[in-house]
Amino acid sequence: MSRVPDIRPDLGLGEGYHSPQVEAAVRLNTNESPVPPPDAWVRAVQAEIATVAWNRYPDRAAWSLRKAIAAFHGVAPEQVWCANGSNEVLQTLLLAFGGPGRGVALWEPTYALHRHIAELTGTAVAEGARADDLSLDLVEVRRVIEQSQPTVTFLCSPNNPTGEAVEPSVVADVLAWAPGLVVVDEAYGQFAPWSAAELLAEDTGLVVTRTYSKTWSLAGLRLGYCLAPASVVSALERASLPYHLDAFTQLAGRLALEHVEAMERGVALIKEERGRLVARMAELDVDMWPSDANFILLRPRRRSGDEVWRGLLDRSVLVRNCSSWAHLTDCLRVTVGTPQENDAFLDALAEVLA
Ligand code: PMP
Repeated sequence: MSRVPDIRPDLGLGEGYHSPQVEAAVRLNTNESPVPPPDAWVRAVQAEIATVAWNRYPDRAAWSLRKAIAAFHGVAPEQVWCANGSNEVLQTLLLAFGGPGRGVALWEPTYALHRHIAELTGTAVAEGARADDLSLDLVEVRRVIEQSQPTVTFLCSPNNPTGEAVEPSVVADVLAWAPGLVVVDEAYGQFAPWSAAELLAEDTGLVVTRTYSKTWSLAGLRLGYCLAPASVVSALERASLPYHLDAFTQLAGRLALEHVEAMERGVALIKEERGRLVARMAELDVDMWPSDANFILLRPRRRSGDEVWRGLLDRSVLVRNCSSWAHLTDCLRVTVGTPQENDAFLDALAEVLA
């Protein structure tokens, strides 16, 4: 007889959230940056590692890193909180502000972890639908907020997996309607035309989350952060484990901010390639959603999503298969890669659709 107890049934864990790590020559399924971080950053990290007192716990408040991020965004260090990926920021937000008797609001389809983390933290989920074209429907947004009175309202801008940024006026409306925190997940913020960070203020409930995983080419590092009122940051400090952010992550993340130009070049390349992918795909038998991010959602018009996904994989091109996700029947999501990777994808897609 097994001594292992059942996993808590109230967590609704099911299969959990993961993207299958299938072998493929061209991997365009997890929205990472296709280019490595700059060599100068690698050298700077190597040099600074030698100065760390590895026998000591790291700076618990991650103060140097927070000061550097604050300077980058033009906010106070007290308005910045860092963790192991923006997923951990989201989780800590709900550990601090969610939980039994509290709720979040979100509009599907959106980033699956918003719901997943709500369930993990025992927070109720009020779900609204998007319009038929998958854009946010303001009447529905207001209805869900007014009916559920959420402690945390999630917006995702640009939204994963649909790709569009939320308009500034919509964020302002939601801030006016929502009774609690409004978390704008900007994991893909640098690809978008504007950032909700512009609206950050001590007297609103706005929290903007960002990550190093995409634009900074550092998905392997696991570093994310939020910009928020100082009182929110204090709550996050209290809800997280002591020394949750190690010395290596702190120094590597701080040094990355000394290479803004390389990051911006990478973002510019992705945006250019995104335009090229859209132009080429417009000639193929697929529908697409407009993207402000480093990925594009598409739906083959006359073939099933599963069939096209498999056909691409047979040609060693891996994209995200969203075919079975609610509201996304037959949809695929392709991450913008290097010019060579994008060519491989376009050639494979044309062949599969032929
Ligand atoms: N938010 C969104 C919308 C994402 O797509 C992702 C990455 N899949 C994350 C947050 C999490 O990123 P990370 O934990 O790597 O910072």
